[in-house]
Parts: sequence; structure tokens; C-alpha cells
Amino acid sequence: MQDSLFNSTGQSEPGQTVQVAVPKPLRQLFDYLASPQQLARLQPGIRVKVPFGRQQLVGIVVCCTQDSHYARHKLKPISDIIDDTPCFAADTLALLHWVSRYYQHPVGEVFSHALPALLRQGKPASPVTENIWQLSELGQQTDSVTLGRAIKQRQILDYLKQAPSTAQTVDQLNRQWDNWRDAMRRLEEKGLVRQTQQTSIFASTVKPVAKALHNLNLEQQQAVEHIRQAIGKHQAFLLEGITGSGKTEVYMQIIIDVLERGQQVLVLVPEIGLTPQLVERFERHLHTHVAVLHSSMNDNERLNNWLAVQDKNNDTRAQVLIGTRSAVFTPFKNLGLILIDEEHDLSLKQQDGLRYSARDVAIMRAHSANIPIVLGSATPSLETLYNAQQQRYTHLLLKQRAGNAILPDIHLLDVRSQKLEHGLSAQLIQRIRAHLQQGNQALLFLNRRGFAPVLMCYECGWLSHCPRCDAYLTLHQRARRLRCHHCGSETHIPHHCPDCQTDGKQTELNPVGLGTERVEEALINLFPDKTILRIDRDSTRKKGELENKLQQAKEGNIDILLGTQMLAKGHHFPRVTLVGILSADQGLYSADFRASERMGQLILQVAGRAGREQQKGEVLIQTCHPENPLLLDLQHHSYPDFCKDLFIEREQAQLPPYTYHVLIRAEALDENAPIEFLTAAKNTRPVIANKAADNIEIFGPFPAPMARRAGRYRYQMLCQSSHRSDLQQLMHHWLPLIEKLPNRKKVRWSIDVDPQEMF
Ligand code: ADP
Ligand code: ZN
Ligand code: ZN
Repeated sequence: MQDSLFNSTGQSEPGQTVQVAVPKPLRQLFDYLASPQQLARLQPGIRVKVPFGRQQLVGIVVCCTQDSHYARHKLKPISDIIDDTPCFAADTLALLHWVSRYYQHPVGEVFSHALPALLRQGKPASPVTENIWQLSELGQQTDSVTLGRAIKQRQILDYLKQAPSTAQTVDQLNRQWDNWRDAMRRLEEKGLVRQTQQTSIFASTVKPVAKALHNLNLEQQQAVEHIRQAIGKHQAFLLEGITGSGKTEVYMQIIIDVLERGQQVLVLVPEIGLTPQLVERFERHLHTHVAVLHSSMNDNERLNNWLAVQDKNNDTRAQVLIGTRSAVFTPFKNLGLILIDEEHDLSLKQQDGLRYSARDVAIMRAHSANIPIVLGSATPSLETLYNAQQQRYTHLLLKQRAGNAILPDIHLLDVRSQKLEHGLSAQLIQRIRAHLQQGNQALLFLNRRGFAPVLMCYECGWLSHCPRCDAYLTLHQRARRLRCHHCGSETHIPHHCPDCQTDGKQTELNPVGLGTERVEEALINLFPDKTILRIDRDSTRKKGELENKLQQAKEGNIDILLGTQMLAKGHHFPRVTLVGILSADQGLYSADFRASERMGQLILQVAGRAGREQQKGEVLIQTCHPENPLLLDLQHHSYPDFCKDLFIEREQAQLPPYTYHVLIRAEALDENAPIEFLTAAKNTRPVIANKAADNIEIFGPFPAPMARRAGRYRYQMLCQSSHRSDLQQLMHHWLPLIEKLPNRKKVRWSIDVDPQEMF
């Protein structure tokens, strides 16, 4: 086919050129030749194979044009056309272009980021067949008790019966159990289940709910009414509802309205919030299979779910997609609403590669699709609150807990002059005891895993520095290792002090500070007859372990839950009445101006775990700064007052949301290289004809808060302006110049628009 482009004299025939986005870190599109036959099959959004240097790449056609800036004989023809219909419809293409421009990221990489892995590799855009297990008629009628002592088989049978759908994919089953296959085979032999192959489970309906929906309370109804009248046009809402106020019920009510109009819904959640329980809750309520997208699914499952929302067939199309941040790029057939739960959560911002905020992209998407968007949170980000103040968003409030639950009392425990037992004050221990005696659960929160954040020699003052970072190695007592939480370096615990050679066994080498492992040990000693469950990254490394532990926490015979933020967010533990926060002080005086905002959000999220059912809860916060005004605001559950104080601070210091930031980072093994690169970059700053450039301040280069990580020296330069568009305009002209700097090759550098963390 390629030969037909050229006649016998080697002159090219009048064909056309197409512009293709290729997955390379280059800020441009590439022109290729297409024969008339090819052209007839091409449209924007179709994947093609194209030659690129010596490689063949999978690119996406962006437009078909008459002219190219390049001489035709220099252009190469397209090798192959992969799709019959576009992978991205026009609206998604426009969104991806916007993302590329706004986040200053190469367009081809943005496109490729938005594709599921299999499509990135050039595989066909059609569903992959999946193995599906479902109950047979006999299985539906069989009581699991009749299976006697075959526990696993009983569990599976019960699970299939109570799951929202009797059909389950292998991945859904994998999420429930590590090994279920043997037991499933036995059930199959007994004729209780059968295995089929299907490309889509979205056609099968979900069993109707047994339980009636809640009657929404007045605040919930009002929120629903407000959002409901925006269906069919663009409007942004902030749904600020205290923990347990029933935001999820509001979401589901609106979703039903949108589905009834024949439109689809996208629900974005933070990574930690996307649990099988949440998906089940939606499926039961909405009577439909929910498509899911998150990073730990396998490639086949991701592709199937991705395709299911754009399925042309009304009967097999998924109506609702719940996903983590990259789901925001999924093309829909007929999107009618976007919901973002926990909109303040940091995991909605990608921190490497394409550094986008899924929340902000979603706002843009809702705007251009002319549909409503709802940002929900108990503790909205200052950015979002500011937008609500500016009346860009409609502010809806849920101030009451739903049902009969009431808010817990929060007390600050002054621990300045107290002797703490591995981080626990006498008062906290006494309250834990009291709550346990009443048969309730206690939840303790400490945002640091490991045994202790540093090991110290009492003889000479040696500290366990990471050799590659400006950080300490954390002591992991149980694993008998010192580990760096920043670069992954690890070593055994030394027997002798590496500096003065004192014998470590003489207890001269001592752990300093607190980690969850250490608190767990203390709790085991203090409460020998109680069951303690620790949930942090170390205790949940294996697949399914987190879900298992959360399940145990909810239903099992656990007295004390202990953990990091994994435990703090979004979960509903019906029996928890006491929450203890071991230290609130980390976030109060940090180098990062956002630290106090995050501390407040986290404290209220953790506090929100207490007393979510009938019994009133109690929250104890240990601090050395009980007079701190921010903590006093939190003590009164006054997130608005807390934010008011932060707004004053930010305005005085001219920080976001009053200004906008772009951060340029550079790192290298040689300390001078990043400084030289950033200085050279600063010197190339273009003069922009209008007033825009005057509006922009550039700070730095200065060392990053962690000035060395994994052996590399890290520097950054901060660009700040009170006008977002001026900053955008500057970057647009400036980046091409930075990319030409000769010393760029000596560093790794990146650009972060609206950075969320300085690190
Ligand atoms: P949020 O998402 O705001 O944390 P949820 O929607 O998860 O809150 O609701 C918290 C609890 O209250 C859930 O157990 C939910 O079933 C219950 N709930 C929500 N709305 C109502 C209501 N109107 N009446 C009774 N219970 C409700
Ligand atoms: Zn020493
Ligand atoms: Zn390190």
C-alpha cells in the first residue's frame, strides 16, 4: 500500500498529510503522509502505526490537513491504521489538548497516558474475553450449611448469594480472596456454580436492594434539589458535609436522576477510598454494574472497563464509572455528571510525569461538556473554598450527621510535662481502658510507620542517616532493618555504633521517636488480653491484605485499631467510640505552607471515625501546643474557622489560593548542575510584550526541602503570579527556551503547574 504513494519517477502523488501525536517527550505533533485510501479511513482519535527514527510507534491522529510545513519528500508514510473508529471522541481530544497546554506536558505523552496499557501497545480496541463465575440455579437454592466443614466453599457460596450480582469476574474474586480457585472448582463439580466466558458483565443487572433507601434528611434533600436543577447544564458545586453527614447518599440520589435521563456518571475518588465495599454500595443502590478503573487492576480488566463506558450498544454500556485520578480522561458515550469525593485528597494530583490535578481537569471537562460537577468533602481544600467564596462554585452544606449519629467531643491533651509511655499519655491510656470496658473499639492514629524514625547512639550522638538522602533511616524492629522511606535504601541494624564502636547490645543504640510498630508493642504490653490490629503500609503489603484487615476492623473481634492515614480516611467502623491522635504537632510548624491545612484535614477525618452510629464518640488529641489557635478551631469542629485563620495567613503571605504557582525542579548527582541549570533557565526568561511578565515573581533557585534524595542534589525555582493566565503565557514562551539550554542534559528537570507539595 505504501508503494502506491509514489509513482515510477519517485515523485510523490498528491496525497495528504496527517498530524499525529506520538508518545515522545517532544512538544509537537508530527506530519505523516497518507494515501487517499488511508485517508478515507482516518479521523482524529484513530490510532496509527508510524515510523519514528528506527522505531515503529503507536500514535494518534490529531488532524488531517492539506499542507505541511515540511517538504513532502521528507515525510514518511503511515505504516498502518489500527482502529476503525476513534479511541477518543472530539471532546476528549480537546480535553487532552487542554491538559497538554495547561500542564506544559508533551502532547503525545498526554495522549498515551490517557490510553489503557493494551491500547498504548497497539492491541485492538475490543473487549477481552473474561472468565466469569456465577451461581447455577441449584446453587441459588442451596443453603451453604449443607456444605458442612468446607469453609471456603461455604464462604464463596454465601458471597455469591449476597454480592450485588451473582456473576463475578476473576478479578472481583481475586479482590475478595487470595486463593479461591480450588474451592470454586469443587463447587463447580457439585453443580452449584458455573464458569462462562463473557466480554461484558455490564449487560447483567444487579439484584434489587433488599433494604429500602434512607429517607434523606432536610439538608440532604436541599442539596439534592440544588444539584438536580443543574442537570443538563454546567454548574459546579461544593458539597461540604461533615464526616458521616450522608454525602454518598446525596451522590447516589443525583446519579439515579442522571441515569434516568439516559446519561452516564463519572465518580472520581482518592486511591485509598476505592474499596470493594464502596463499589458494592453503589451497585446495590443503582441496580447496575459499575465500571471501575484504578491502578491495581490488570490490563485486560482495565481495557474492558474503559471500553464499557463508550460502548455503542445501550444494553451493554456501563452507566457509571468509579475510578481514581486517571479515570478523568476516559471517553464516555454520553456523560451527564461528574462527582469527586474527598476533593481535597492529595492523591487526586499526580506527582510525577504528567503532573495533573484530576479535580481541576474534571472541572474543565464538566465546563466544556456543559454538565454539572459536584466536589464533595468534609474538609474542602482552601482552593475549592476560595472558588466557592468567589461564587464560581455553589456552596452546599451538610452540617448534621445523618441518621441518629452525633459528633464526638474533641479534647486537646497537653502532654508537655507528661511522661509518655511509648507516646501514650496516662490520660489517653485510661480513656482507652474505659471505652474498651464498655465493649467499644478504640482507634489510634499516628502518621508514621516503622518502630522509630531514627536510631541514635547515646554514647557519641551518632544518628542513623540515610547515606543517599537528607533523611534518617527508620528503624523496623520486627524486620530487623533500617530503612529509608524516601529512596528505599536499607541495611541491617548495626551491632556496634558505626562511629564510636560502642556495643549496641549495651543499649547504647536507642530508637528515638515513635512509629506505629512501637506503639503496637506498647499496646500489647498495656492491654495483654485485648486484640490489636495495626494497619499501615508495612502491614498491608500483600495483595488483598488491606481489604482483609479493614473487613476485620469492621466485623472482627478487634479492640484497638492502630494505623496511619490508611485507617483514617473514609472508612466506617461502627464500633469505634474513641479516637486517639498521638501527635498533632508534626503539621503545625513545617517548611511546607500547606502542612497545617493537611494536618487539619487529617485530624478531622480521623476524628470523624468516632461515634458513627448510636453511641457518642470521644476524640483525644495529644499536643505540646494546646494553645495553638488552629488546634482550638479543630477542637470546636470548626473547619470554617480553621480555614478562616489559614486564609488570613495565606493572604498576608501572598500564597495560593491568592496566587498561582509553577515549580521548576532539577536534580543531579553533581550539586552544581541543578543550580547552574536553573540559573541559566532564569536568565533566559523571555520578555513578554504586554504587562504579563511584570506580574510574575521568580524565587530561587533554592534547595528543595529534602535537599538530597537517592544520592541526587535537588533544587527548585518557584514562579508565582496573581494571574493564572499570565503565568501560563510566560511558561508557554519560556519552556522552548529552557529546552534548548545546553546544560539541561546534566540534570533531570521537570515542571509542576499548581504544585501541591514542595518536597
Ligand atoms: P459521608 O459520605 O458523608 O461520610 P455516608 O453517605 O457514608 O456519609 O453516610 C454515613 C452513614 O449514615 C451511612 O451508614 C449511611 O447509610 C447513613 N445515612 C446516610 N443518610 C442517611 C439518612 N438520611 N438517614 C439515615 N441514615 C443515613
Ligand atoms: Zn556512638
Ligand atoms: Zn534514602
